[in-house]
Amino acid sequence: MKQNFAIIGLGRFGGSICRTLIESGQEVLAVDSNEDRVNEYMNIATHAVVANAQDEMTLRSLGIRNFDHVIVAIGEDIQASILVTLMVKEMGVPDIVAKAQNEYHARVLEKIGADRVVHPERDMGQRLAHNLVSKNILDYLELSDEFSLAEINVTNRKFYGKTLNELDFRRRFGLNVVAIRRDKQDPIVTPGAEEVVQKDDHLVVIGRDEDVDYLDEKMN
Ligand code: ATP
Ligand code: ATP
Ligand code: CA
Repeated sequence: MKQNFAIIGLGRFGGSICRTLIESGQEVLAVDSNEDRVNEYMNIATHAVVANAQDEMTLRSLGIRNFDHVIVAIGEDIQASILVTLMVKEMGVPDIVAKAQNEYHARVLEKIGADRVVHPERDMGQRLAHNLVSKNILDYLELSDEFSLAEINVTNRKFYGKTLNELDFRRRFGLNVVAIRRDKQDPIVTPGAEEVVQKDDHLVVIGRDEDVDYLDEKMN
């Protein structure tokens, strides 16, 4: 289903969201106060406009209230980010995603009604740190304080050639395998009990942090 998106702030973060949404066939209004940034997106976004989003009249004239999703991708100027998020909320936009610069900023954005607050630098830092600590953890996403999703490289030969059932995977590790990535093949999504684990498979698992750590230790 086609939806419309407005992105305010065309730094690396907002810009990358814009390109990806356009690639997936969505309509995107791109807004930035910096003319050079807007010129860069002129031929990419559905519409690209130079405007200071902190100005309420400007937001109204852009018809921001009619968008399904508004992404506030202003980073450094925390005051602008907060003010814009607040105005967009008051206009009744149903889904607001805002980028936070730090934990305090995040709390304010949540309080004033951002539906999703993202911290790209922090999240990328966590993903990289888990990968630096263990070379078998290829990717990592914290779902909450207790749960995560991790992609683990199977490097222990005891796993090779065995089905998830034979490994008694769920009971032994407390984790669900949500996908198996193998070479360049399409991933095997929601594998069943009879799926055979092979050398160098990447298991995408979901579960408690300590269970992810335990599985990771088993690979060494
Ligand atoms: P990123 O971290 O995503 O690479 P950046 O560090 O280049 O971004 P930020 O300060 O995070 O820059 O701001 C992102 C964009 O938001 C910039 O292009 C900036 O011009 C734009 N921006 C800042 N304030 C406003 C505003 N009031 N109205 C519109 N755009 C704004
Ligand atoms: P359970 O005994 O856990 O209720 P089940 O009765 O649904 O599982 P199956 O789905 O046939 O039985 O799976 C048998 C066993 O294979 C499970 O107990 C589990 O250990 C393992 N298994 C199957 N699929 C997965 C998966 N996607 N992730 C982790 N383990 C799995
Ligand atoms: Ca930045």
